[in-house]
Amino acid sequence: MSTLDFEIALSERPTPAAERDRILADPGWGRHFTDHMVLIQYTEGKGWHDARLQPYGPIPMDPASQVLHYSQELFEGLKAYRQADGTIATFRPFSNAARMNRSAARMAMPSIPEQLFVDALELLVRTDQDWVPSTEGYSLYLRPFMFATTRALGVNQPADEYLFVVIASPSGNYYARGIRPVSVWLSQDYTRAAPGGTGEAKTGGNYAASFAGQAQAVENGCDQVVWLDAVERRWVEEVGSMNLVFVYGSGAEARLLTPALTGTMLPGITRDSMLKLAPDLGVPVEEGRISVDQWESGCASGEISEVFGCGTAAVISPVGHVKGPDREFTIGDGEPGEISMRLREELIGIQYGTRPDPYGWVHKIV
Ligand SMILES: *Cc1c(COP(=O)(O)O)cnc(C)c1O
Repeated sequence: MSTLDFEIALSERPTPAAERDRILADPGWGRHFTDHMVLIQYTEGKGWHDARLQPYGPIPMDPASQVLHYSQELFEGLKAYRQADGTIATFRPFSNAARMNRSAARMAMPSIPEQLFVDALELLVRTDQDWVPSTEGYSLYLRPFMFATTRALGVNQPADEYLFVVIASPSGNYYARGIRPVSVWLSQDYTRAAPGGTGEAKTGGNYAASFAGQAQAVENGCDQVVWLDAVERRWVEEVGSMNLVFVYGSGAEARLLTPALTGTMLPGITRDSMLKLAPDLGVPVEEGRISVDQWESGCASGEISEVFGCGTAAVISPVGHVKGPDREFTIGDGEPGEISMRLREELIGIQYGTRPDPYGWVHKIV
C-alpha cells in the first residue's frame, strides 16, 4: 500500500534503446541519468503532498530558495542490482529511509514516512527498469535527496517547504581494471566533522567542507583523504566518504576493529552490514578507537594486516599506503588482503542474489 498516490507523467522522448545500451556498456559513475525522476513536496501544516513521477529534467527554482543560501539539504545513496535470476532488488532500503530521517532531524527538516521513501524508489526503478545493467558488478545507483525550497532569506528558522527527489544513475564496476588498493593522506589542516556538528548527517555541506582536504590529498600524490578527529587530531575517523575498518592478525586469528560511532562519523550501512557478516564468517568485530600512532606501529609490527574503506559505491576499498606530513607507511604488502576480499565477495554475493541472504536485506522490486 502506497502512502500517497503518485501522479504519473511518462517521458514522451525516452532514450532510444540503442543509445541506452551504449550508455550501459560503459556507464562510468554519476554521469548518466535515467528517463524519469520522482518528486514529492512538503509544506508545513499540510505534510507530504503532490507525489509524482515525471521525465528527468531541470527543477525550476526561486533564487531565494533557502537551500541555495543556507544549505538545508540532505541525501541518501543506495543501489538497485540485477539479480542472478533477472529480477531487480535493492539492498536494505528501509535502513536508508531511517538514516535519512535521522539526518533530517539534525538539519531541522521534516521526516518522510519510510514506506513513502521506499515507494518512491520502487516506482522509479520499476519505471526505468531497463536501465538496470546486467553486466557483472554494474548497478543502478539511486540518489534520494531533499532540500528547502522556501523563498526567504530569513536566517532564524528552518524552511517550511521542501522537495524530496529521487534520481537514478547507471553505474559501472568501481574496479573495472581489478582491485587496486588506494593510498591515503592523513589530513592535518582540515577536519570533516566536529562534536555537536553535522558529521553524522548525510548532508551536502559535509562534502563541500571536504573538497579542500581531498584536493590536498591529491597534491600529495594520494587517492583519498583520511579524516582525523577534530579535537585531538589523532583518532582516525573516516576515509574520503567511506567508513574505515582495520584487520588485526590473519587467517583464523583475524579480527576487525572499526571506529565507534561517536557522533562525528557517518553511520554507513555497508559498515553495519560488515559488522553483522564478519562474525558469521568467523571474524570477530569490535567498535573502538585507533590513533594514527597506533595505526603506524600496528603496521610496523605486523599486528595490523589489512585496512579497508567501506561504502555503497565501492563496497570495500582496500587501503595500501598511508602518508602524512611527518610519516609514511605501507599496510601489509600493500596489496588487497584476504579478509577484505572475502568480506567483499560475501556482501556482493548477497546484493546480487548469488549467496543466501540470512538477514533479509535484499528487497525485491521487480
Ligand atoms: C554515505 C557515506 C558513507 C557510507 O555509507 P553507506 O551507507 O555504507 O554507503 C560513509 N561516510 C560518509 C561520509 C558518507 O557520506
